[in-house]
Amino acid sequence: MDIPRIFNITESAHRIHNPFTPEKFAVLGAALRLKTGTKILDLGCGSGEMLCTWARDYGITGTGVDMSSVFSKQAELRAEELGVAGKVKFIHGDAAGYVSDEKVGVAACVGATWIAGGVAGTAKLLERSLRKGGIILIGEPYWRQIPPTEEVAKGCLAHSISDFLILPKLVASFANLGYDVVEMVLADQDGWDRYEAAKWLTMRRWLEENPNDELAKDVRAQLTSEPERYASYTREYLGWGVFAIMPR
Ligand code: SAH
Repeated sequence: MDIPRIFNITESAHRIHNPFTPEKFAVLGAALRLKTGTKILDLGCGSGEMLCTWARDYGITGTGVDMSSVFSKQAELRAEELGVAGKVKFIHGDAAGYVSDEKVGVAACVGATWIAGGVAGTAKLLERSLRKGGIILIGEPYWRQIPPTEEVAKGCLAHSISDFLILPKLVASFANLGYDVVEMVLADQDGWDRYEAAKWLTMRRWLEENPNDELAKDVRAQLTSEPERYASYTREYLGWGVFAIMPR
């Protein structure tokens, strides 16, 4: 079981697989006023940076689930590196439908809401693992500016303009689903650069080492087109944030 190999290649050097920076995760952890011993579930946890750094900085314990074999391995190594291997556990597997045995104080899905068919389904899934008074975290894109045409939306790698909302509408959508929005931390364009531009050097180095790989042509094509596509579209039009919500 794994995600498409192209992501394991292009994001192999990433610790954070979204436009958040280490500073943003620290701000979010502080904003949530995490207490030592808080249990956290993180679906689509990537390389485990949120859980590992929050275990180190805020004394939380946690479980992460991710379908990437590469990222799951990196999460375990990161936990050892930060001295929190006894506090966080990483499961390599499908997070769709995953509910924790023990209820948690924070249930998160930071940039992988497709695991339950979108924001609404993911919030419902996470709620099944949440203790009373707990907080759900959803990481999700939104339009910084509405794309003027469907072509521009496609340039952002969306299927259509309707894939995402503008920020006020996204925030309102949580209320419409029956949640209070209790905090939010938004990424910025520098954070987008860290996520997207970091792939380019990784791709360049991978190509030098794997010229005959079956994906070499695809990676070469992406490296050639991505900087201009990203600078033209994603960087200008797409925002991203983590929203903390609580059932009403
Ligand atoms: N939350 C992480 C990763 C976000 S990227 C971070 O902040 O860094 C999206 C992640 O979802 C990737 O790590 C990918 O491997 C994972 N993923 C995709 N489909 C999945 C599924 N069905 N089950 C579990 N993880 C999945």
